[in-house]
Amino acid sequence: MTLRPDFASDLLIDGKLVAGSGGTYDVVNPATEEVIGQAAQATAADMDAAIAAARAAFDTTDWSRDHAFRARCLRQLREALAGHFDELRELTVAEVGCPVFLTHGPQLEGPMNDLDYFAGLAESYDWTVDLGEASPMGIKNHRELRSEAVGVVGAITPWNFPHQINFAKIGPALAAGCTVVLKAAPDTPWCAALVGKVIAEETDIPAGVINIVTSTDHELGAQLTADPRVDLISFTGSTATGRAVMASAAASLKKVFLELGGKSAFLVLDDADLGAACAMAAFNVVTHAGQGCAITTRLVVPREKLAEATELTRTALAGLPAADPTKPGTICGPLISARQRDRVEEYIALAVAEGGTVETGGGRPADREHGYFVSPTLISGLDNSARVAQEEIFGPVLVILAHDGDDDAIAIANDSPYGLSGQVWGTDPARINRVVDGVRTGTMGINGGIWYSADVPFGGYKQSGIGREMGVAGFAEYLETKAVARPA
Ligand code: NAD
Repeated sequence: MTLRPDFASDLLIDGKLVAGSGGTYDVVNPATEEVIGQAAQATAADMDAAIAAARAAFDTTDWSRDHAFRARCLRQLREALAGHFDELRELTVAEVGCPVFLTHGPQLEGPMNDLDYFAGLAESYDWTVDLGEASPMGIKNHRELRSEAVGVVGAITPWNFPHQINFAKIGPALAAGCTVVLKAAPDTPWCAALVGKVIAEETDIPAGVINIVTSTDHELGAQLTADPRVDLISFTGSTATGRAVMASAAASLKKVFLELGGKSAFLVLDDADLGAACAMAAFNVVTHAGQGCAITTRLVVPREKLAEATELTRTALAGLPAADPTKPGTICGPLISARQRDRVEEYIALAVAEGGTVETGGGRPADREHGYFVSPTLISGLDNSARVAQEEIFGPVLVILAHDGDDDAIAIANDSPYGLSGQVWGTDPARINRVVDGVRTGTMGINGGIWYSADVPFGGYKQSGIGREMGVAGFAEYLETKAVARPA
């Protein structure tokens, strides 16, 4: 089976690849602005059929009870996808605009290979836990806890790391025994639809267990959140949309699981290697043009070293230009769309209007005639109350701020509506641990430490989200607990 030449123009509903009732829409390469093909345009009727199929598969098959079968299906899917890595790599770079180097990790191979981890959980999880005997009201009972799948999952995902986020939902949801309707991001339909094609043509995953819907219409996401046949919404996207998702899901009291925005701080203590820290902060913020919710976008350095750090970071960013994402050495590719590029440029203009200085970058690179590129940008001269230090920009824009000691650094990190990630750099373990303990955030790296892995739960404090994705905690999001007792 080859994914070309008619790849990904279909929806996956009830085990069949079907055309969208609304026809098709253009898929655009963000690095060239060329239309590279079409995606299926689903309508509300298609979404309705997808939800019906997921509901029927959950209610009328053994999928949720046959743990070994699910593990086999997930491994089979991983193997089938691995056979398409080269094609998927090319199409992913073309659709997402992500640097090709990232497809060897979280933009492709990492999350697909992680299906094995979730298959293992389906087999090894303690589905039944014996609680022994107790005598409530004087009557001796034997009790046990059983874990069961939540039911139908509505998975709604963004465009920035589509495979990673799609699989961080599909993997644990299917392993747990749920059935799924995946509503892909409008800008990256192929990443989802290609997987649908592989599922339909190369796996034994039963009809209706996973359904994949692509559309430019955000309302299909809203439809999923409101439908009473859906038991859980697993959402990744902006905090604003997350609020709408939670409000809509409240009407039918669905469980919601939200992975939202971030404005994470990169804290440099006064005993840190300043050069290495600034180089890493620059690398982080340009990776995939800053389009990552967990990217550190506030660099917070000792006040007495602010000028030196600004110069080190400016130099590092200037050496990481926005470039062709198909080239192996590229770290910073384009933004996903003209809309996102405009948004980033507006934030840079806002920084200047607020009194900030653009140390490097600040707009479109002169050597890129086409594509939604913005040059890596460093903003100085502001404090943490500036809007560019408070709001998520989602572009290659770093704001450098000064702190007056460890406590002040912690306070600046926490002076944010978000709490998703962060870094601390220093040499004294006691001071580093104090900072790690003080920052209210779901993940922290120390001196460049990378926490990302299938077995590590990821998620946010505060307005960065509710719940955890990946790891055993992420798997458990897709489970209900049933307490069972019988007279002993
Ligand atoms: P978005 O919130 O605009 O859209 C995300 C998804 O929600 C899309 O599929 C969209 O069609 C759908 N949607 C839009 N309106 C909806 C509604 N009312 N009801 C239901 N679904 C709706 O986000 P985006 O612009 O695609 O992605 C960027 C954002 O995602 C950033 O804020 C980023 O920080 C966040 N993000 C968070 C994480 C995380 O794990 N915390 C990961 C990646 C991205």
